[in-house]
Amino acid sequence: MTYDTVTASAEETQALGEALGRQLKPGHVVAFFGDLGAGKTTFIQGVAQGVGADANRVKSPTFVLMREYPGPLPLVHIDGYRLEGSGAVTWLDIELIFGPSKITLIEWAERFGELLPPEYLEVRLKHVSTNRRRIQLIPHGAGAEALITGLPPVTADAARD
Ligand code: ADP
Ligand code: MG
Repeated sequence: MTYDTVTASAEETQALGEALGRQLKPGHVVAFFGDLGAGKTTFIQGVAQGVGADANRVKSPTFVLMREYPGPLPLVHIDGYRLEGSGAVTWLDIELIFGPSKITLIEWAERFGELLPPEYLEVRLKHVSTNRRRIQLIPHGAGAEALITGLPPVTADAARD
């Protein structure tokens, strides 16, 4: 089962992220795929809010590869943009990043290639028009599947795009 919708504003994307964030527990990994400006960071701001962290701290890291946000649950935000080719990630402590004690959100997840864990939620964002983004959530593993069933149903309006 996949979740497939179109949002009409940054706020709608954040609201979907918030609904997802409310369900996340330590050990969950969410991997984001999509071009620059697709809305990955915007979605993650909503996730942070849903997790109970301070969403204002979430920014597109420029030279920062990894950030941890204070809050009720340990939340790690990784941006792989500057990792040139998936080979460059091999120096990272992958077991630490994908460990069971943290919620991990990864932008430019394609950079991680085969290093992504077996269970994760794939989030694909695509530019439709200035304010519209197609967002697909594709679960890998039973834990990720359960996350999708807890989301608000896709409206017929969004499904038409
Ligand atoms: P990324 O992290 O994928 O590079 P950002 O989230 O940093 O993208 O930027 C997305 C930009 O697009 C923001 O300026 C945001 O306000 C704008 N935007 C417009 N419509 C949407 C939408 N429906 N969903 C997400 N962002 C949107
Ligand atoms: Mg970003």
